[in-house]
Amino acid sequence: MIMDTIAAISTPLGEGGISVIRVSGGEAVPLVERVFQSKVKLSEAATHTVHYGNIIVPATKDRVEEVLVTVMRAPRSFTMEDVVEVSCHGGIVSVKKVLDLLLLQGIRLAEPGEFTKRAFLNGRIDLTQAEAVIDLIRAKSDRAFSIALKQVEGNLSKQIKVIRHQLVELMAHIEVNIDYPEHDVEEMTNAYIHEKGTAALAHIDMLLHTAQQGKILREGIETAIVGRPNVGKSSLLNELAQENRAIVTDVPGTTRDVISEFVNVGGIPLKLLDTAGIRETSDIVEQIGVERSRVALAEADLILLVISRSEELLPDEVELMRQLAGKQTIVIINKIDLPSKLDMNQILAYFPQERIVEVSLVEGTGMDGLEKAISGIFFEGKLEAGDLTYVSNIRHIHLLKQARASLEDGLQANEEHTPIDILQIDLRSAWEYLGEIIGDSVGESLIDQIFTQFCLGK
Ligand code: GDP
Ligand code: ZN
Repeated sequence: MIMDTIAAISTPLGEGGISVIRVSGGEAVPLVERVFQSKVKLSEAATHTVHYGNIIVPATKDRVEEVLVTVMRAPRSFTMEDVVEVSCHGGIVSVKKVLDLLLLQGIRLAEPGEFTKRAFLNGRIDLTQAEAVIDLIRAKSDRAFSIALKQVEGNLSKQIKVIRHQLVELMAHIEVNIDYPEHDVEEMTNAYIHEKGTAALAHIDMLLHTAQQGKILREGIETAIVGRPNVGKSSLLNELAQENRAIVTDVPGTTRDVISEFVNVGGIPLKLLDTAGIRETSDIVEQIGVERSRVALAEADLILLVISRSEELLPDEVELMRQLAGKQTIVIINKIDLPSKLDMNQILAYFPQERIVEVSLVEGTGMDGLEKAISGIFFEGKLEAGDLTYVSNIRHIHLLKQARASLEDGLQANEEHTPIDILQIDLRSAWEYLGEIIGDSVGESLIDQIFTQFCLGK
């Protein structure tokens, strides 16, 4: 496959210190060399070396920008093609000038995701890894980031390959049986299929099971802060937003008019719902009993119920606790700097101790307890991003489910002693669905569809 040489600015556009232009393709080195003036001839430079010099207009020798140029020769580069990276530090105007100059040399501006696409097409990474690059760019929390990183490293692909291997073994075994269909072999085969097929099914289930956590880490836990007026809801919101880097999304296609705020609590992203409502002091609890608030509560994955320790519970609050008892709720007893007028037994009647945290939002104490409670709910102290492969991509989940259904059909057929070549069809389609996850035998259009989600320069 002959591919032309492409270039794009691969660092985020902005004021930042250094901008990098990445050039990839068979002609990357000679084409950059035309505009690069330095002690070393770029075409003679060893791979993985950095060179100081100037970008010049070839005709006039006018200096455009002082740069560092890195040469990475095929196949030891991200795209497996010759890659030249030009680091400029002169701000966006001069970076654009350098890029324009490169384009004049016959280099084409890269499409969004084209570098990653080439890495995929050249066999450097598989599809799950390529898709994880998108997730890396979009990650809203350190946990989401490390999951994506694991996937870039090929964790999910490895697991998919293990399952596919199990299915291939099964199919091979059946193949043998078709050739030698003695009766006792058939019985053995039924037992064998049951055992191996069930194991593969369990492995798929295990991956699907991580999907929920994966989604949460990617998209944030939808969180509602509730409580009667004056207990400290706005203070909590401010505390969360200050202490934790608020995350701004710049993902194309996300609707900006939906009002929600991301905060990062102990590596877990919370998507605070109805934030504007809280800010504008239209306290949710004032609408208790109103249908609207019930909908808001139903939508939330997590509810932070704020109660003030300095006052006795009101009947409204008891009613709210009763409504929330079955939901993922953390009770935040605020104002512990003040004398207590609260009867804790009234709260313990609805929530276990580990769901109750005590804080003082004016003094900023107790927030680590809140962090622990939140990660306790969603990870039960067991799951760490480091030791699990999370499936979080909708496409992967969908294919895993299809593979699961086919495999289950196959196992069902096996129980019913259906002719073995029919069973083979189910196994084969399960194997194919799994193959689509890692990009084995996927069509051109799917590949294009996936790579258009990238931003420019990746
Ligand atoms: P909201 O109406 O539930 O949003 O409550 P606010 O966050 O607006 O707080 C109501 C009042 O309680 C404000 O005057 C806060 O300064 C005060 N407050 C919030 N947290 C604490 C706390 O931990 N201790 C004390 N003593 N006062 C607090
Ligand atoms: Zn408020």
